[in-house]
Amino acid sequence: MSKLDLKNFTRAALVDYAKELSWSPFRGNQIFSWLYRPGISDFAQMTDLAKVARLELAERTMISRLVPEKREVSEDGTIKYAFRLDDGQVIESVLIPEEDRNTLCVSSQVGCAMGCQFCLTGTMGFKRNLSPAEIVNQIMAVRDDLPMEMCNSGDRRNGCINNLVFMGMGEPLANFDNLLTALEILMDQSGLDFSGRRVTVSTCGLVPRMKELGERAVINLAVSLHSVDNKIRSQLMPVNDKYPVEVLLEACRNYPMPNRRMIMFEYILIKGLNDSDGDARQLARKLGDMRCKINLLPFNPCPGLPYEQPSRDRIMAFQKILWDAGFTVFIRFSRGGDISAACGQLASRVSAAGHAIDDDEESLPLGD
Ligand code: SF4
Repeated sequence: MSKLDLKNFTRAALVDYAKELSWSPFRGNQIFSWLYRPGISDFAQMTDLAKVARLELAERTMISRLVPEKREVSEDGTIKYAFRLDDGQVIESVLIPEEDRNTLCVSSQVGCAMGCQFCLTGTMGFKRNLSPAEIVNQIMAVRDDLPMEMCNSGDRRNGCINNLVFMGMGEPLANFDNLLTALEILMDQSGLDFSGRRVTVSTCGLVPRMKELGERAVINLAVSLHSVDNKIRSQLMPVNDKYPVEVLLEACRNYPMPNRRMIMFEYILIKGLNDSDGDARQLARKLGDMRCKINLLPFNPCPGLPYEQPSRDRIMAFQKILWDAGFTVFIRFSRGGDISAACGQLASRVSAAGHAIDDDEESLPLGD
């Protein structure tokens, strides 16, 4: 019988498991804390558990971890990690360092079924979902890898990682249950203790799951929009055939979120396709008075993808129209291009949009 991976358990599930073994529920809490606070991977280190309990646990369960198989550092400081999973598949995570914070972009699936035309992961097809443990272990592995000098806060608890964004390989809402379990572990105070304000989940627009996500996890939502013209959006993102722009924007309007939070719309600017003044005006009209911010992501050319980046002037003109219409708009140029860690190059969509939506957002929109 294969052993259960303890990192697939939320704290509540571990308490239940302790009861199943006829142990005190308190022991479930103890075990959970050992997994994340010191982050141990050896049962012998659970020193407040009786030896007989540790042996029983070791017989029935295991503690998984990921070790980077490859680490590439970009000239701009971006670090791309490759992790080999037990079944031989490889996933990638990208750390994006900034002056005042470090953001980790996390994968949720191996490959992706969504087939977005600007994304290399889309061309890979879908291989499988990641387990909660495989999601959480990406963060723990990077946490353990980074040197103390990279810590902005000096708080080693989560190493140098300040923000998490689910913008790596895969569509997170297509792996919904495992995503929710991972989020619960990540935000549990005895787990990795991330504030929901520092966690962003990005979706290509799986409308039925969006509302449920907002009801079950208080995190930030980013939506890959890229066009508000159904013809263009369907050309870029097949998901638009099922959930067209009007349906998606209605779901965004109804998304349950705390006051002061805003939805982040991601908009890849592609030369000659969705970057005209008319496109910008149409975007402003359709978003109307929605509580949102907009990230403009100049397309990052990739071999095999037929798109180009607009000129700097065009990008600025697009931003200005949105700005004049009253929107908060950021331009995020991709980073890590020299190590294929930029937008669309990961065989994923790790992007310069890799910022948690932050009420204390300090970075200024470019282009003024
Ligand atoms: Fe999947 Fe996201 Fe790439 Fe679309 S952009 S194919 S949803 S990973």
